Amino acid sequence: MRTKELGKTGLTISEIGFGGIPIIRVDTENSIKILQHAYDQGITFYDTANLYRDSEDKIGRAFEGKRQNIVIATKTIKRDATSALEQLENSLRMLRTDYIDLYQMHQVAQERDYDAALAPGGVYEALLKAKEQGKIRHIGVTSHSLPMAVKLVKTDLFSTIQFPFNFIEDAAKDELHVEAKKRNIAVLAMKPFAGGVIDNAAVAFAFLRQFPDVIPLAGFDSIESVDEIISIYRQENTVTSRDLEIMEEYRAKLGKRFCRRCEYCQPCPNGVLITPAMGYKIFVSRMSPAVAADFAKVAMESVPSCTECEECISRCPYELPIPKILKENYELYKTHCGK
Ligand code: SF4
Ligand code: SF4
Repeated sequence: MRTKELGKTGLTISEIGFGGIPIIRVDTENSIKILQHAYDQGITFYDTANLYRDSEDKIGRAFEGKRQNIVIATKTIKRDATSALEQLENSLRMLRTDYIDLYQMHQVAQERDYDAALAPGGVYEALLKAKEQGKIRHIGVTSHSLPMAVKLVKTDLFSTIQFPFNFIEDAAKDELHVEAKKRNIAVLAMKPFAGGVIDNAAVAFAFLRQFPDVIPLAGFDSIESVDEIISIYRQENTVTSRDLEIMEEYRAKLGKRFCRRCEYCQPCPNGVLITPAMGYKIFVSRMSPAVAADFAKVAMESVPSCTECEECISRCPYELPIPKILKENYELYKTHCGK
């Protein structure tokens, strides 16, 4: 595994990072095996968040005794200093460490997040103090909003910017990457598989590896998924004309109106299982309608409980018309199960 400099931090990391969301679906024992396998294959950069349930705890357990060999990034969604420091202490405890290499302000998307985070008494002030105390080494930020990500980079307050980047959502490559590069701010690419809708790893990484300044964060939920990506990274990168055609086919099929499975919209006050129900058309494209209907039954049967309160829309970073898409998917589901 080749290594890269993490922007201006002075840290050296593997050229691909381990994204800490998918291990929340795996039990602790197997998560530790996956994490340690990734480490054995040369992955030294691990990104997680306070919000990712037990992901920090699993990373902490996996690397007890090896802390100095890895670079850990985590995040707080809190905007005020007191709550952010509580989350930092929690992260230190869960990760079984006394320092975090990169601590990120999580999902700063709206102006109100920006104002609260940077105001006196806000999270940024707290992180500066934590840095002085040696509890964190560098401060980064994540966003799903392109204008906001550009604005954050231009403040020059952060060492890294984390933003979705893949061959379907490639808008960041213009202004965001250019501004970050000018300032030697590292770009961490979240969602290399567009939240699971890209199921062709070879093409996904053929695209991403064209951008040597970008560090993709790939989520792994099995040893096989680690090995698949590692084997791609062992080869020189080439983007063939067939790869370009495949990328175009995905773009044409998905458009912009698709769920990235980030789960920010949940929970629904009426118990609708939003994320799996939003993904119904993707299931259908990968299996027969009858199998998809059976597979997604529990999620789809929760859709009629939707009262269209729109609470979820305000939490979706992509502003998807969730109740409308759920309804469309439910109509399709009904035809598949003969209702
Ligand atoms: S709009 Fe529907 S799915 Fe969204 S939070 Fe309200 S009830 Fe739940
Ligand atoms: S609907 Fe929006 S917030 Fe919910 S999982 Fe999909 S992309 Fe994320």
